[in-house]
Amino acid sequence: MPNTYRGLAGAAFLALSAASAHAAPAPSEAEKAEALDLLETIVSTRTVKGQGQTGAMAEALKARLVEAGFPEDAIDLPTMEIDGETVTAFVARYAAEGEPTAPPIAFLAHMDVVDASAETWSTTPFEPVVQDGYLYGRGAVDNKAGIGALVSSFARLKESGWTPSRDLVLAFSGDEETGMNTTMMLTGHPWVRDAEYALNSDAGSGSAASEDKPATFSIQSAEKTYATYVLTAKNKGGHSSAPRPDNAIYDLAEALRRLETLKFPVEFNEITRGMAERMAESAEPKEARALRTLLKDPSNERARKVIEESGLRAHFLSTTCVPTMLSGGSVENALPQRASVTVNCRIMPGTDPAEVEAKLRETVANDAIEMKPLGARTQSPVSPINEPLFASLTAAARSLYPDATVNPSMSSGGTDGREYRSQGIPTYGAGAIALGPDDHRAHGIDERVPLDTYYRQIEYWETLLKDLAG
Ligand SMILES: [Zn+2]
Repeated sequence: MPNTYRGLAGAAFLALSAASAHAAPAPSEAEKAEALDLLETIVSTRTVKGQGQTGAMAEALKARLVEAGFPEDAIDLPTMEIDGETVTAFVARYAAEGEPTAPPIAFLAHMDVVDASAETWSTTPFEPVVQDGYLYGRGAVDNKAGIGALVSSFARLKESGWTPSRDLVLAFSGDEETGMNTTMMLTGHPWVRDAEYALNSDAGSGSAASEDKPATFSIQSAEKTYATYVLTAKNKGGHSSAPRPDNAIYDLAEALRRLETLKFPVEFNEITRGMAERMAESAEPKEARALRTLLKDPSNERARKVIEESGLRAHFLSTTCVPTMLSGGSVENALPQRASVTVNCRIMPGTDPAEVEAKLRETVANDAIEMKPLGARTQSPVSPINEPLFASLTAAARSLYPDATVNPSMSSGGTDGREYRSQGIPTYGAGAIALGPDDHRAHGIDERVPLDTYYRQIEYWETLLKDLAG
């Protein structure tokens, strides 16, 4: 893995990115209509786990690229069986002319979506509707606008006769929201596995400019590890008319009270250090001082307390574990035979989940409480700061939003990027979709994407591709 870290603070990228990339032309009305048509087609394909629709969606994407001039054999639709369903992934290679000048770059997205219950929506989730400049539908933002824009951009470049100087590979997974099995398959795909790095359209989106602030985008360069544990207190039970001192609900309550006191140490990596520095720049003086104190001395409890009580979104400072679900007992007139709590942890990159598990056990301090991990826990390293790439990402974002700030960040976990990073492919969120304050609706009701930012993505990717592979 190349390590280009040179101890740069985030602010330095602003200076670096002054060199502006050659901006791509805005899409014509005909190109917009075609991109909208593609987005409507894929949003109306219900790529929810168990529905068997990823193959249909992959075929639609393939048809668009073949129509644009990509050879059939530059597109691969590998499949795998998952829980009785055939799930399809999508790989397309925009091959370099002659000998490539550098290893490939992979462009990531996921074709699947979480389900949506029609009753709670004001539109129908899988029947896309265009209204007031938005496209409404499940997946509009997460992550089908990313796919529609990437494919439209690749198609437009191909139609224009452009050829990259290195291979550019689209790699779209089919089960990101559930198991990431196809993601793991893609990391070993012959067109993908040698990538110098991957750019993920499913991360790195930002906030549109408002009256007092320019647009802001993040370059997701690290993710916390996601881990869930179920803690269960068991008891032989009995009739509720004859209570005893031992009781599963009391035992669990005691465990919860102990868990409430559990804190993991504050720690920094090269990405979160920059996040804390930038947060200090815009924080109130007291909180700014506390952040700067922690940067110098992560063990300073007083500074930590100031941040915790401030309401600042500073969860990137440490591993966190929090109870999220509770259940116990079975009928009202019996002593409970079991009581369970689900605890969800977001673990700092570089920390072994086994250590966190051990810490939970130690805190609960009751061997009679059973503790089971739920699902797999993939650890992923921090992707190193890559100055030339970050300058290109910043320049591409600024070709659309001239005052935009673009900074590396760590997210709390859950994208395809973690599988790539864990396989040694540095991965950066590069979505650059600009959302308004009321547009953050991924997984929620009435999900929507502003069409303006969707169309501008086509320019964004073209500017970036020509900069990275021109
Ligand atoms: Zn997503």
